[in-house]
Amino acid sequence: MAKSRFEYVRQFETHCTLLPETYIVVRIDGKKFHEFSKHYDFEKPNDARALRLMNACAKNVVLKYRNDIICAFGESDEYSFILRKDTVLFKRRHDKLSSLFVSLFSSNYVALWDKFFPDRPLDYKHLPFFDSRCVCYPSLNTIKDYLCWRFVDTHINNLYNTVFWNLIIKCGLTPQESEQKLCGTLSSEKQEILFADCGINYNNEPEMFKKGSLITNKGEITHVDVVKIIDSLFEKF
Ligand code: ATP
Ligand code: ATP
Ligand code: MG
Ligand code: MG
Ligand code: MG
Ligand code: MG
Ligand code: MG
Repeated sequence: MAKSRFEYVRQFETHCTLLPETYIVVRIDGKKFHEFSKHYDFEKPNDARALRLMNACAKNVVLKYRNDIICAFGESDEYSFILRKDTVLFKRRHDKLSSLFVSLFSSNYVALWDKFFPDRPLDYKHLPFFDSRCVCYPSLNTIKDYLCWRFVDTHINNLYNTVFWNLIIKCGLTPQESEQKLCGTLSSEKQEILFADCGINYNNEPEMFKKGSLITNKGEITHVDVVKIIDSLFEKF
């Protein structure tokens, strides 16, 4: 490429290279999806179509970079992509990894939208967009704990949301009353309230809602207890 006298401005660019030999997590999260989900009338607390759309987008990201990715885990409007510690994808550049993963995910979300919401066209004033970050984890223990953290978060949020919304939808409570009723309750008490007041056994809720979605580097999507299988997931890595 021709050099001009302006070329020197390149020197102002800085590049952050992620620490070598560390597992990299790229986590993306929907921007203001509370509002987005309202606008497109997502079913509460869980819209299965929206979760399947997230899974389809993540699967395409995983398959594109399958040699570098160990697995991906998703819940709600977020997805975590876990990269091998020896990956040299994009020379481990923070900005490249973060921006290319999130834009690939977002373009898939828009392109696949109609397949999952055939009756609800995307409206250009309410387009989906996502934030993204990269985090390095220095050991096998910390990366396993990262995944367990997201998995446990899924469970805690889903149990709360399931009871919160069913008290509103099935029992006619206002959001404030529902929140008050759940304030300070333990997991077991939430499950009891759900059963006694709403006639719902939490154990019978769909696995995708309770456990989130795990995608292997072969692109297989499962909804399993991540804590239980965590060792086998990282066996080869
Ligand atoms: P931020 O921009 O800070 O991420 P946010 O509104 O996206 O704000 P989150 O904490 O990311 O907040 O939460 C995502 C919200 O999107 C959930 O609380 C829920 O209201 C909604 N949401 C996401 N996925 C679904 C789904 N599959 N079904 C129903 N609601 C969903
Ligand atoms: P990288 O991933 O490193 O950015 P790249 O192939 O995108 O690789 P760029 O230096 O960004 O390389 O150059 C973009 C290329 O895309 C151009 O060289 C040209 O071949 C093509 N291109 C972009 N916009 C147009 C356009 N409007 N018309 C024709 N070709 C285009
Ligand atoms: Mg260019
Ligand atoms: Mg957020
Ligand atoms: Mg969000
Ligand atoms: Mg979120
Ligand atoms: Mg380019």
